[in-house]
Amino acid sequence: MQTIAERLDNARKSIKDATINAQRNVDSVQLLAVSKTKLVSEITQAYKHGHRMFGENYIQEGVSKVKEMSAMADIEWHMIGPIQSNKTKDVATYFDWVQSIDRVKIAKRLNDQRPESLPNLNVCIQVNIDDEPTKSGVSVNEVDTLINEIKTMPRLSLRGFMAIPKADAELQTQIASFKKMQGLFTDYSKLHAEFDTLSLGMSNDMNLAIQHGSTMVRLGTAIFGARSYSNN
Ligand SMILES: *Cc1c(COP(=O)(O)O)cnc(C)c1O
Repeated sequence: MQTIAERLDNARKSIKDATINAQRNVDSVQLLAVSKTKLVSEITQAYKHGHRMFGENYIQEGVSKVKEMSAMADIEWHMIGPIQSNKTKDVATYFDWVQSIDRVKIAKRLNDQRPESLPNLNVCIQVNIDDEPTKSGVSVNEVDTLINEIKTMPRLSLRGFMAIPKADAELQTQIASFKKMQGLFTDYSKLHAEFDTLSLGMSNDMNLAIQHGSTMVRLGTAIFGARSYSNN
């Protein structure tokens, strides 16, 4: 069995290879290690191997890890799961990024609750690119309104988009949604110079994502191995 350190090395190499294949700059894609359901001891192994960006899906679980690992103060914690409005205070207090913004109400609460002692909260709008009824995120035609609302919120820094293209689609269908997401990001980056993040791609579709402009892949299984349970 591979260690977490070995898997991290492999993932870094795969990302590098994919950027070269896509004729992109080798450092144009960041790696977010998705540590949901994984233990603090496992995250610590990745930390000791030099990794600093971790993503969590479940608020309670994520907050308890952030607290427990507070001595590793240079970790950048990303919330990538759905946010209930009664949990926004914890998210605003303990996370550095929220990639799963899908309504004004949540953005507004995060803005109001971001502690003054902390820098702005970095946020991405989650786009439901394939209009899947079971998935969170706004549809493409709602993006504009949400951007304009968020841009009035002084404690949030809007960095771009996050999406989870449909996993089980035919390759051509999958490519079509990656292209759509890339086009959306390109268009809005022209309007909003501060947009620098297209969070796209997971363990199974990372290469396709990097071919289509992803600037951040979110890898869980590839780094930490299969998840033995899910609390969702
Ligand atoms: C779980 C999860 C991931 C990681 O998925 P893997 O297939 O294990 O790489 C990435 N993004 C989101 C939003 C997730 O919920």
